[in-house]
Amino acid sequence: MHLPETSDTICALSTPAGMGALAVIRISGKEAFAIGSKIFKTKAGKTKDFNLVKPYTIHYGTLSDQEKVIDEVLISVFKNPNSYTGEDTLEISCHGSIYIQQQILQLLQKCGARLAQPGEYTMRAFLNGKLDLSQAEAVSDLISSEHASAHTTALQQLRSGYSSTIKELRTRLIDFASLLELELDFAEEDVEFAHRGQLAELVTGLLKEINQLRESFAIGNAFKNGVPVVIAGKPNVGKSTLLNALLNEEKAIVSDIAGTTRDVIEDQLTIRGIRFRFMDTAGLRITEDTIEKIGVAKTYEYLDKASIVLYICDPGQSNPEELKNEITNIQERVGNAHLVFITVINKTDQYEKLIDLNIYSNFQNAIFISALNKTHLQELSDKIITASNLQGVSGDAPLVTNARHAEALTRAEQSLGAVLSGMNHLSTDLIALELKTALYHLAEITGEVYTDDLLGNIFSKFCIGK
Ligand code: GDP
Repeated sequence: MHLPETSDTICALSTPAGMGALAVIRISGKEAFAIGSKIFKTKAGKTKDFNLVKPYTIHYGTLSDQEKVIDEVLISVFKNPNSYTGEDTLEISCHGSIYIQQQILQLLQKCGARLAQPGEYTMRAFLNGKLDLSQAEAVSDLISSEHASAHTTALQQLRSGYSSTIKELRTRLIDFASLLELELDFAEEDVEFAHRGQLAELVTGLLKEINQLRESFAIGNAFKNGVPVVIAGKPNVGKSTLLNALLNEEKAIVSDIAGTTRDVIEDQLTIRGIRFRFMDTAGLRITEDTIEKIGVAKTYEYLDKASIVLYICDPGQSNPEELKNEITNIQERVGNAHLVFITVINKTDQYEKLIDLNIYSNFQNAIFISALNKTHLQELSDKIITASNLQGVSGDAPLVTNARHAEALTRAEQSLGAVLSGMNHLSTDLIALELKTALYHLAEITGEVYTDDLLGNIFSKFCIGK
């Protein structure tokens, strides 16, 4: 993949496309000030040389294409290296008409700027050392954060997050790697510069820290993308009714014909700042209907990936003995040891006068609700929050939220594991090679090493103008 040119001057709309009260257009690069000077006049009709103005000032005036005035604007001046990109940058605040935005962008291009590609400002910020790669990725996460938990983790990562931890781990390894290299240089003389006992101790310590970081991805990912919650149970127990009640809208099809929900309906809900992804599944029963069978198989697939299952029971359909068998059946079939069960006894409005519902009290996280009348949903939300295990996760401790980082940590862990297990029988050059590989994967996270493809892949997912 070819990365865009980095020595020219780029421009783009930084506010959302479309009409607004105001719009912001950004120019960044060597010619930013010269281009701004060509098209800007003060209110008194005087030209202004942005190379000579005090940086971090705002200038009021007009933008014109030759004699034709396009708009009255405010221009903010940022001088390199103290700007977002690390380059000379002008931010033009203009009126938010689409016509004005287009006219200004065309004018900037006529004067020598190029339209920026997605993420190009942040890529320049990274290449100019203003941010490391994991922080640049956090910028994208911050812009797309839609709920408190995603926002907290993105902000934490942007403010250095675990970058400093990774850099520190690398420094500790680099010292030993250089000693091993030295040993290789003196291979003939059979000397040992890198004490094997100390190396084992160091690698053991690093492995523990890397492992902790990698394992935090399970929480970090749930925090960022939402905790998967599957709503399961026999047909007609009220799964769709519960999903609708939780979402407060009619999304799933509710009917009393068994097997109505054959596919999985997913929706998201934020409870006290934590995002949950609820999945309403096909009823679990033995069926001959081919489509329904696929639905049931899909339910198990979702259960395998879920963190929480709301297992709904209709007391008219299952007595405690039967309910126990249903739950045991799932537990035996699902290969997900971390799945937390919440046993939801539904339709209490219909049964509380007919059955002593206390006979269900001993089920795991048992809760009694009426999805139809929306009773005890608050308590259900409390149980869901507790089961998520995310309550109290503040984002202060380093949390890995990015799959690319988790992958790099896994690879670093594998190489360090090989160093540790081969310490006594691997040759020095093989140990040195594994150490280098571990260093490489750690450096990938912060972008101390990168390929054009990796940068292209990361920044192409950004919006234009960022
Ligand atoms: P699903 O197949 O498990 O998704 O069940 P539905 O949500 O489609 O509901 C099946 C039937 O049970 C519908 O007629 C619902 O109105 C009814 N139902 C669901 N929840 C309750 C409840 O809390 N009380 C009563 N009385 N009926 C309910």
